[in-house]
Amino acid sequence: VTDKKTVRGVSGLQAIYDNISELYRISKAYSLEEAKSAAVSRCRKFPSIACAVIDDFSKGRGLEVLDRIRHQISITRKFNFPVRPALDPYTSTTLNLYQLEKAEEIGRFFEYPECCVKTFVEDFKITLDQSLLGKLGRVINRGRECMVITSGFVPCTLECKKAHRSGLIVTVERDKLEQFKKLEDELFSMLPHCHPAYFRNYFEYLC
Ligand SMILES: [Zn+2]
Repeated sequence: VTDKKTVRGVSGLQAIYDNISELYRISKAYSLEEAKSAAVSRCRKFPSIACAVIDDFSKGRGLEVLDRIRHQISITRKFNFPVRPALDPYTSTTLNLYQLEKAEEIGRFFEYPECCVKTFVEDFKITLDQSLLGKLGRVINRGRECMVITSGFVPCTLECKKAHRSGLIVTVERDKLEQFKKLEDELFSMLPHCHPAYFRNYFEYLC
């Protein structure tokens, strides 16, 4: 029996892996220029990211990237959380996924809901700012509960149904937070990286 609630955390990472591994296959099958045009027609929602990934893979870093994501998926699967940890920051840096000028495509590459991508791009809401946090008390019982959000993801509202359904936000009892920190520790120790802003922060906690 597959419990949808408990696979959401892994399925977002799996979707990213599937796209990247398809791009890897394309990069191996064709010459660089042919591979780029095949990538663009395969990834219509994020064509310039797809081209950049092909470029990167032509320099030989594809297997390393795929290996790290597979490893991240297997660690995350063990914990079986309803929310997705941020993609391994080393991988995101290698694939250039922190460029704000490509925010729209990057949001789609990460399978973020269109409503949230739109708010991010149009209102330039790039952090969990006061307009979101001010409403926290109305959304959860702050004494007992916390919201856990995929690091780097900014929802259009804390109640965005699509974000909840996609495993990008979840409400949990405060005493469950230790478990989330354990996953963060394990990810960071098994897949070390030097991105200063992420460090161990695969999740954001709103309490
Ligand atoms: Zn939304």
